[in-house]
Amino acid sequence: MASFFPKEKLAEIRSRANIVDIISEYVTFKKAGKNYLALCPFHSEKTPSFHVNEEKQIFYCFGCQKGGDVITFLREINNLSFVEAVSQLANRYGLSLPPPSSYRKEKATDQETFLEINEKAMHFFHHVLMQRPEGEVGRKYLKKRGIDQKIWETFKLGYALETWDSLATFLNKGNIPLQLAKQLGLIAPREKGGFFDCFRGRIIFPIFNLNGRTIGFGGRAIAGGTPKYLNSSDSMIYKKSSSLFGLPITRNSIAKEDQVLIVEGYFDLLSLFQAGICPVVSPLGTALTGVHIQTLKRFTSRFYVVFDADEAGDKAALRSLEMFLNEGLSPRVVILPSGSDPDEFIQQKGVENFRKKMEIAPLLIEYFIERAIEKKNLSLPEGKVEVVKEVMPIIGHIREPIVQDEYIRKLSERLGVREDRIRSLGLSPAPHRAKELSSPIDETRREEFLLTLMLQKPELILSVDAVEVVDDLDSHLLQEIAKTVIALYQKEGEVEITTLIDQLGDEKGKLATRLSLKEENFANITESLKDCILQIKRNKFKKMKAQLTLKIKKAQDSRDEAKIRDLNEQKVKLILQEKNLPNTIGALLNL
Ligand SMILES: [Zn+2]
Repeated sequence: MASFFPKEKLAEIRSRANIVDIISEYVTFKKAGKNYLALCPFHSEKTPSFHVNEEKQIFYCFGCQKGGDVITFLREINNLSFVEAVSQLANRYGLSLPPPSSYRKEKATDQETFLEINEKAMHFFHHVLMQRPEGEVGRKYLKKRGIDQKIWETFKLGYALETWDSLATFLNKGNIPLQLAKQLGLIAPREKGGFFDCFRGRIIFPIFNLNGRTIGFGGRAIAGGTPKYLNSSDSMIYKKSSSLFGLPITRNSIAKEDQVLIVEGYFDLLSLFQAGICPVVSPLGTALTGVHIQTLKRFTSRFYVVFDADEAGDKAALRSLEMFLNEGLSPRVVILPSGSDPDEFIQQKGVENFRKKMEIAPLLIEYFIERAIEKKNLSLPEGKVEVVKEVMPIIGHIREPIVQDEYIRKLSERLGVREDRIRSLGLSPAPHRAKELSSPIDETRREEFLLTLMLQKPELILSVDAVEVVDDLDSHLLQEIAKTVIALYQKEGEVEITTLIDQLGDEKGKLATRLSLKEENFANITESLKDCILQIKRNKFKKMKAQLTLKIKKAQDSRDEAKIRDLNEQKVKLILQEKNLPNTIGALLNL
């Protein structure tokens, strides 16, 4: 997280403020070992999962995954910006702070500056919708779509006027450098000089990150403008592929109800939320990505997707199914009549009927298998083969061998074809391979263990660096955290968790906080470390070998003898390296 204040000033404030004192104004603590334990102030619970570690000056809730340092706590609990939280602390401890604006000029493209510009734009759009006479067009439209004023407020909806430059003029008056607003996709340059607004004549849906900061906007044209939906372009603070509309508002419901419903559109989400189905999110005009799923996985493992029963719906279902299975998840699918979306469905048939659809929602994989069977003629043996060919690659994505076997058994019953025949079609990575390749859950656990060790036993950091295992980590988040930890340790000889959080930013900072508080069994630490690194490396080798095998197959198909030889040599080398792994790691670790 980039910040306005000099590093030393932040360090001084952090060293003066005791996190236990500050948080105890909001909760009642029990001492539990090294930690203080309380009922979480951010989500409702009966048994405490909110931990504060005085030594490290951090908090973490194992229920809702909020965590960070004292500044994060104040920001989250009081809904403050970073600057506001720091100022509050400085006041409280009688420390002077330089005015943040003097830093703003120096670091004009600071992330915080971008966030503040977006916030100004968000308030502007919202104000127009809520109060200005010209906003009537927007108010009328929302009322027509059946969205209540309370929802406008909750989601801070806005209206962008049809005029060419109302936002540009507003920002200019507020002394906002328009070049920066341009980088956020709010305005664009005019040929004759000056700027015009990108969002015009549209209902505005602000997109917030998990801390409630405005990172981007979606806009729905209301007078037949094109495109119908317009989204902020990706910027330094906004990535479509990892942001979800609604999440900061619905996250508590998702955690509390332990389920999430993924819908396509803004209005689908608003309608459901208004009707009392609150654990909902929506990807932003893009297909669901693995990052979206990973983000949501932190709150729940029970996923629902919504599709309408047509060809396009089937394709979308299939695409997302693979991603879910790769994450070790098995979502359910709410099936709506062809051509219908949740917004429409609820307006026409009522929310109770939607709830019923949720109750009877089948597993997406079962739905997929049934659809594959429906489309083929099972009275012909060829039809059965086609079904097997379509379904087995998907079953191959299931990471749990027992579950995989179960689906193969079901398919065999359903088609009246022997299991071994289905397997012998060789289209699935047969269970033995799945067993060999560890499941992504094990993989994540292992990688998290490595990070936990690095954070809690910093004396191991340099050894971990020496074996070059960080680049082999599958999780990019963990990889970035590990790299930052190593860099910090090399520079300062220690890893102060609050400094780390500063450098990592909110998302990764939270993960690092959780891992540094995680209770692990540290008996036999050298062996566990060695074993963990060995497994991570082996996994990497397996993946490289699998890729080579594929390439060899391709080369064989095209009869490229030279290439086949070359690839085979590479494979032999890999196998040798893999064999030597325990020795290599032992030597490099030098423990
Ligand atoms: Zn919590």
